Amino acid sequence: MKIPFNKVYITGQEMTYVQDCLARGQIGGNGSYTDKVQRFIADRFDCRKVLLTTSGTTALEMATMLIGLQPGDEVIMPSFNFVSSANAVLLRGARPVFVDIDPETLNIDVSAIEAHINTRTKAIIPVHYAGVACKMDQIMDIARGHNLIVIEDAAQAVNAAYQDKYLGTIGHLGCYSFHATKNISCGEGGALLINTSEPNILERADILWEKGTNRRQFMQGQTDKYTWMDIGSSFLPADILAAILYAQLAEVDHITRRREEIYRCYLDLLQPYQSQGLLSLPNIPPGIRSNYHIFYCLLTSSLERSLVIDHLRQYGIQSTFHYVPLHSSPMGLKLGYKAADLPITERLSQNLLRLPLYPSLSQEEVDYVIKHVSVALEELKITAPGLDI
Ligand SMILES: *Cc1c(COP(=O)(O)O)cnc(C)c1O
Repeated sequence: MKIPFNKVYITGQEMTYVQDCLARGQIGGNGSYTDKVQRFIADRFDCRKVLLTTSGTTALEMATMLIGLQPGDEVIMPSFNFVSSANAVLLRGARPVFVDIDPETLNIDVSAIEAHINTRTKAIIPVHYAGVACKMDQIMDIARGHNLIVIEDAAQAVNAAYQDKYLGTIGHLGCYSFHATKNISCGEGGALLINTSEPNILERADILWEKGTNRRQFMQGQTDKYTWMDIGSSFLPADILAAILYAQLAEVDHITRRREEIYRCYLDLLQPYQSQGLLSLPNIPPGIRSNYHIFYCLLTSSLERSLVIDHLRQYGIQSTFHYVPLHSSPMGLKLGYKAADLPITERLSQNLLRLPLYPSLSQEEVDYVIKHVSVALEELKITAPGLDI
């Protein structure tokens, strides 16, 4: 059996909408599917304003531009993270400040945030890892207390919630990704969610989105001149991609439900190995609704992890790990960090194993994955008794 790590979910409606788009010759940005998707996200997830972007990365870049980040400013984020939010900060000439994670969720350790706040701190970018919410109440309280902006990196968290509020709609700004590896996808795409009424952010967003021009107001007949107004870039995706996204979003509940079934199956079947102390399983805290983006477990060493990955590969199963912590990556070291600065991030990222999780994974395939994880763990007990497991 061959089980790839990820398979894109296709609803079957994508071609219909793409053909409609092509037939009408409206393939550029800010067309009717872009409008439909933006409305869908705003209504469904309850948010003030949504702008589709070309990726989650560019949504984050637009966010750091919108909040007026300057050289000398600092932005707090976890080091256990994808590179995009750190790049978005560096591209403004500002500095990412890395914080350790909470072992329970691998999200930013909220109790470590305040120690990193100083007069240069402008924002916090929490990441909802695996589609499980950060402690947003505490993060928003800290931000209020220090007058900081919160940009949620909700790239992995579309349709996940924290105390009945959808992720991406709680901070001042939120960023989604529709990359091919995410739950809802159009290949490459993203969205910026604007939840604040602050005019400097809300009113400038359309302008930054359209290369720094007032094209959107012009098209809506609100101004008679189309001209350069502010800094900006080209953040809007082709309407063809929005057409694909429109088909995908209609299935968001089905996709989430199927992922949940597989996730729960992994949890149940691996439980005995947790009881034996061979691995530790993820935990979704109360009050939080996951979108089941990632299934991970923590093994007890990186050697053990490599042995399990190798065993699975021999049986056609692709498993993987991430992230190389940002602070101890080559770029992090250039910024002056040392690996020992964030010990929990360093340790847990070496032990983390991710298993295949996508809607088309069959029960037979799930059973096959679990069987081989079990065999690998049993073999480890026999062949490497010296291992501290
Ligand atoms: C996927 C991802 C991004 C980047 O999204 P793209 O659409 O690939 O640019 C950013 N942050 C996190 C946490 C992600 O998982």
